[in-house]
Amino acid sequence: MFTIEQLLQPSSLDEAAVMLSENPDLVVLGGCGFLKMGSRRIAKAMDLSRCGLEEIRETETQIELNAMTTLYDIETNASLRDCFDGILPRAVGHILGVQFRRCATIGASVYSKYGFSDILPALLVLDTEVELLRAGRMPLAEFLDKPVTRDLLVRVIIHKDDRRASYRDLRNASADFPIVNAAVSLYRGQWAIVGGARPGKAMLATKTGQELSNLPVEQMNATAVAQQAADELVFGSNNKASADYRRAMFAVLAKQALEEVLACK
Ligand SMILES: Cc1cc2nc3c(=O)[nH]c(=O)nc-3n(C[C@H](O)[C@H](O)[C@H](O)COP(=O)(O)OP(=O)(O)OC[C@H]3O[C@@H](n4cnc5c(N)ncnc54)[C@H](O)[C@@H]3O)c2cc1C
Repeated sequence: MFTIEQLLQPSSLDEAAVMLSENPDLVVLGGCGFLKMGSRRIAKAMDLSRCGLEEIRETETQIELNAMTTLYDIETNASLRDCFDGILPRAVGHILGVQFRRCATIGASVYSKYGFSDILPALLVLDTEVELLRAGRMPLAEFLDKPVTRDLLVRVIIHKDDRRASYRDLRNASADFPIVNAAVSLYRGQWAIVGGARPGKAMLATKTGQELSNLPVEQMNATAVAQQAADELVFGSNNKASADYRRAMFAVLAKQALEEVLACK
């Protein structure tokens, strides 16, 4: 369990911005699920729960997941269950148990760029942007490529469209981290294929996606495309699985996801 010496509770994002710039070592608190795993002594922590960042906001064109939105909010939100074949509720639904998902926040989950993430691959096959307090708004893919800087993730913005999408993961046990995962989407002939838990952070198989996007759907061979994506992505080994096993399993998951998207058309 960690220890906080001083807790700051801004009541607006403007106040949070001032606190962030005045306190170089300030630790931003999400739901504290991950922070609780360590035994850090934190001199100053900032709790965002008075900044009005809890809700999921939907307009005609986008869905905004404010930073303090919990994974359970995402799992149970009616619009997210309807949009993109429910890829987001499906991706978060296997993360530990309901109690945990009611605390863990989307802000921390995206900002931390966890290599084992179930959420990032699913967000990456959608038209997703992130809004940071200091760096402003940018596509999720750009954010993931940038080196980590001290900032605060304000919200995740998903642009609504009629894309079809699918998410698959492989775990040793239901409450374990994923060994490898795959997300696929199709929008107006453009395919996006992402591998996650490689064990590095989520990565787009850009070349495979581009080549596939030029092919008529009827000519697509899901097995061959999934293998091509598996060969394009970089996989590594750790105590959960070897790189070769991950690559082989990713090809299976990606094929299933491609076939599911094709069946939804
Ligand atoms: C035991 C365990 C198992 C897990 N299994 C999985 C899994 O299988 N799949 C999966 O996808 N995820 C998994 N996770 C990660 C989980 O889903 C959350 O992503 C994680 O707990 C962080 O969310 P939190 O709200 O608890 O963050 P916190 O613990 O509050 O914060 C984590 C980090 O993010 C920073 N932070 C918090 N909010 C913000 C913000 N708005 N802007 C900038 N920085 C911020 C904090 O300073 C801290 O460094 C697991 C976590 C744990 C502890």
